[in-house]
Amino acid sequence: MFNWQAEIPLIMRKSDHTRPEHIAPDDDIEQSLRPPRLEQFAGQEKIVQNLKIFIQAAKQRGEPLEHVLFTGPPGLGKTTLALIIANEMGTSVKMTSGPVLDRPNNLAGLLTSLQEGEVLFIDEIHRLTPAVEEYLYSAMEDFRLDIVIDQGPNARTVQLTLNRFTLVGATTRSGLLTAPLRARFGVTNRLDYYDAPTLFGIVKRSSDILNVAVDDEGAMEIAKRSRGTPRIANRLLRRCRDFAQADRSLAAFGGKVTSEVADHALRALEVDKAGLDEMDKRILLYLIERHGGGPVGVNAIAAAIGEDPGTIEEVYEPFLIQQGFLLRNLRGREATGMAYAHFGRSKARAKGPGDPQLPLGFEEGA
Ligand code: ADP
Repeated sequence: MFNWQAEIPLIMRKSDHTRPEHIAPDDDIEQSLRPPRLEQFAGQEKIVQNLKIFIQAAKQRGEPLEHVLFTGPPGLGKTTLALIIANEMGTSVKMTSGPVLDRPNNLAGLLTSLQEGEVLFIDEIHRLTPAVEEYLYSAMEDFRLDIVIDQGPNARTVQLTLNRFTLVGATTRSGLLTAPLRARFGVTNRLDYYDAPTLFGIVKRSSDILNVAVDDEGAMEIAKRSRGTPRIANRLLRRCRDFAQADRSLAAFGGKVTSEVADHALRALEVDKAGLDEMDKRILLYLIERHGGGPVGVNAIAAAIGEDPGTIEEVYEPFLIQQGFLLRNLRGREATGMAYAHFGRSKARAKGPGDPQLPLGFEEGA
């Protein structure tokens, strides 16, 4: 797999353990934890059910599966489903990403190397350049590539016929996809956050594969505090194992991840009872303490807490909104009553907008 996320800082913050994005050190472990078949893919029932039917029908017709788009926050299983599709179709997969395919030549090279029926997975497909996207249209539609050779008066178009393939696209920012590209996918699926019982099953499966001793209460504690995201659940499981093994104050638990051990480890990583991490808390407390709950624009929040606005929109907000801590409207972002309650604050006590006297507090309220 490509290591295109080189921008990830080398020094990990506490909240990096709960960042749902892919990070390079996870590569090998993620591979070993990926369910290889639809049967083993937990949750997302509707999507799995539909994929089963589409795959069976395509196989019966002896055709490649239609192009599939997966949207949703990072770490929910988009790449895993692309690999599963290839497995279920009995074919192989070539993997790339929008930022890597920066020139039409790269795309042409890749497309002409595809075998009949092969899966091409393009992660972060919203980041394709317009020139590359243009080429992709005819490739997706007619399995044909029009290549312009030479320039000026000598310019001429050569048409290449491609093997039929299935494009699986993934994006965390479906709003940034162009309408023509979106329209060329036969199937579009939006992945949702996982509930705690499903994540519990994922943690148990991973603990078997990684040989981590974890009891049911410990697994549930991790499941409930993983921001509804399998990648985070798997990462927190490994961090809890580290604490179980190496933290002397937990020696009595004999290296097992129990609910006490998990709670101790997650507190040390600043993951609270609701699964909110340091960044979530900064966002909500900034709204509550500095702006009387909001509304505040995303750029102002980003500047105040030192995070990229795109990451706030793509990673933090969807979870906070889904959990009922945050509202997003035309005027900006607002902390909800539930957010106030979570931090033990009352709306009446909140100070006015932009009060510069108030320090930014990151203390845990729940
Ligand atoms: P995305 O591409 O959406 O960022 P991935 O497919 O890379 O997410 O999944 C991240 C990790 O989470 C993988 O290691 C995978 O094993 C695990 N995972 C994701 N979804 C599931 C699932 N439904 N069941 C089991 N494990 C999952």
